[in-house]
Amino acid sequence: MMNRGDISTPRRTKEIIQRHGFSFKKSLGQNFLIDQNILAKIIDAAGLDKTKGALEIGPGIGALTEKLAQQAGKVTAVEIDQRLLPILEEVLEPYPHVNVVHGDVLKLHLQELFEQRFKDVSGVSVVANLPYYVTTPILMKLLEEGLPLEHIVVMIQKEVAERMAASPGGKEYGSLSIAVQYYSEPELVCVVPHTVFIPQPNVESAVIRLSVRKEPPVSVEDEDFFFDVVHASFAQRRKTIANNLKSRFFPKEGRERLEQLLAEAGIEPSRRAETLSLQEYAVLSNVFYAAGLK
Ligand code: SAM
Repeated sequence: MMNRGDISTPRRTKEIIQRHGFSFKKSLGQNFLIDQNILAKIIDAAGLDKTKGALEIGPGIGALTEKLAQQAGKVTAVEIDQRLLPILEEVLEPYPHVNVVHGDVLKLHLQELFEQRFKDVSGVSVVANLPYYVTTPILMKLLEEGLPLEHIVVMIQKEVAERMAASPGGKEYGSLSIAVQYYSEPELVCVVPHTVFIPQPNVESAVIRLSVRKEPPVSVEDEDFFFDVVHASFAQRRKTIANNLKSRFFPKEGRERLEQLLAEAGIEPSRRAETLSLQEYAVLSNVFYAAGLK
C-alpha cells in the first residue's frame, strides 16, 4: 500500500509513472503537480472540512486528490484518461470516501452527479489543477449550470486568471471578466512557477479562487441578451462601443436611435468596451431589451 500523503513528491511521482509505464499526453493538458507547498496553498484556499464535499476535475495520478481526501468528507474526481484509472485505484485505496468517475467533464451531467454524491454534505467546492486546453469551457459550465457550489479553486494559465479577475479600464478586462464576475467573485491566490509541474508547461500558471455568488450582483431582464450585448460591445476592441453596437444591432440605420439609447443608459458613445462596469452593461442591455432589440 502507498505511504499516505507523499505521492506528490517528485521522486514518488516518477516512481509511480515508471512502474505503470505511463506517458504524458500533451493533448490532455497533463502537467502533474509535484510541490507540497502549492498543493497546501490550493487546499487552504478551498476552506474544506469534513462536513464538505470536493469535486476534482482531472485527478491525474491523485496528488491533489489525496490531499482533498484528507480534508473533505466526500471527494469525487472526474478523469478522462482511462490509463490513469489503475494508478488512481492504487493511490486512493486508503480513502473509501473518494470516488473516481471516468469521463469527460464537459459531457457529464453535473446536476445528477451532485444529487448522487453530495446530498449529505454542507457545501461543495471544485478544486483542481485544470487541463489548460479546456479551462474556459470547464469553468463556464460549472458557473452557468447553477450548481450549488461554494468555491472554485483552480490552477489555470496566469494570463486567463488575470483576465477573469480584471477590473474595468485595463487591457485584460473583457467579456470573460464580465461572465466570470457575473457568477462569482474572483481572487488571485498566487502565481506559480513552472518548476512545480512535471512535465513543465510552457505558459505561466496561477491559482484563482472564484467564490460563487448566490445571486448575480446586477439585475438583468434577459441573461442571454445581456451576454449578447457584452460580446457585441467587445467585438473589435479598438473601436468605440457605439461603433461595435451599431454593427451588431443597427447595421443599416443611422446613428440617431443608437445614440438615444446610449444616452438613456448614461453611456458616452465614444467610450470603449473595456471601460464599462458590469453594472453599466446591465443597464445598457436592459435599455436595449426594453427597446425590443432582442
Ligand atoms: N490533478 C493532477 C495534478 O495536479 O497533478 C493532474 C492535473 S493535469 C493539469 C489535468 C488532468 O485533467 C489530467 O489528468 C488529464 O488527463 C485530465 N483531463 C483532461 N481533459 C479532461 C476532461 N475533459 N475531463 C476530465 N479530465 C480531463
